Amino acid sequence: MKNKQNIEKVPLIGQTLKEIVHLIQEMGFPKFRGKQIFQWLYQHRINEMNEMANVPNDIRQKLSSSFIIHPLQLNLHTKSDQEPTEKFLFTLQSGEDIESVLMKDGKRNTLCISTQVGCAVDCDFCATAKMGFQKNLTTGEIVDQYIHVQNMSSRPITNIVFMGMGEPFLNYKNVISAADLLNHPEGIQMGARRITISTAGVVPKIKQFAEEKHKYKLAISLNASNEPQRKEIMPITKTHRLNDLMEAADMYYQSSGRFPTFEYVLMEGINDSLRDAHELARLIGRQPCKVNVIPYNEIGGIYRRPSDDKIKSFLSQLKNVPFQVTVRWSRGTDIKAGCGQLAVNSDS
Ligand code: SF4
Repeated sequence: MKNKQNIEKVPLIGQTLKEIVHLIQEMGFPKFRGKQIFQWLYQHRINEMNEMANVPNDIRQKLSSSFIIHPLQLNLHTKSDQEPTEKFLFTLQSGEDIESVLMKDGKRNTLCISTQVGCAVDCDFCATAKMGFQKNLTTGEIVDQYIHVQNMSSRPITNIVFMGMGEPFLNYKNVISAADLLNHPEGIQMGARRITISTAGVVPKIKQFAEEKHKYKLAISLNASNEPQRKEIMPITKTHRLNDLMEAADMYYQSSGRFPTFEYVLMEGINDSLRDAHELARLIGRQPCKVNVIPYNEIGGIYRRPSDDKIKSFLSQLKNVPFQVTVRWSRGTDIKAGCGQLAVNSDS
């Protein structure tokens, strides 16, 4: 379905405080109006210009002539029957579709957002990869996923993970601007430690992220215990070698003092043997980090989820390692909202 919004107009969501102040001053209005508008957009999450109660009508009218609020239009909202998980399908102004997933787990209400339409990284086990790369999302298209979903959720979103469609670090600038907007003290105010950016291993960007000393958490999709195995399932390893990736992860720890999280999607017969568990422990060694094991969510391809017994015996081999190991029994698989399952198609 197409986005029915006026595609001639520029969305306000995605603009920084500085940009809105500049815009409002260019229109001939005082600077403080810019801050008010910023707060209406990001703190109050308005849907209509006329909801800006303390902003004079002439400013609202002038804004309405060239701008709209949202870059995204919600087209489908699906709830899982089995889990407290919801999936949202949005259409961009340019017509492409993207997805976001909301997962409730105890006090946590985590939103997984997309950063690209499709993905070029081509991980063999991933549904998004099958779409190919189409385009980078703008800062506004990334942040608007949060705004729409929070407006529909009865509970506050407590955590945001950049783990939906796309490789966030191949859209680095817009991803960092989006995280900065989500974290902004005059706007959404999502704590930096509640924002996690995930990468398949774009080494120069991990180093840049570390050098720029961003406060957000870093997750790395590792998924293999050695280089040949990783090359098979994640071709990005041919460009960014496993040793370089481990070194970049350590650099992030050294510069931020925060543990990177290694995500390890466990696939039957691929990386789930006891030997893999030992190799994984050796690969990581004493590097300060967390490891999150994610039993694979099947997408109808050649990869399978290991049996629960196999998953447990893999985990038991990691009992005495010097790093923390957690398991994410991924959610929403009945609505294809599990990790690695996001792909826009007719039955999604
Ligand atoms: S797992 Fe992530 S990086 Fe790899 S193809 Fe899928 S969306 Fe892209």
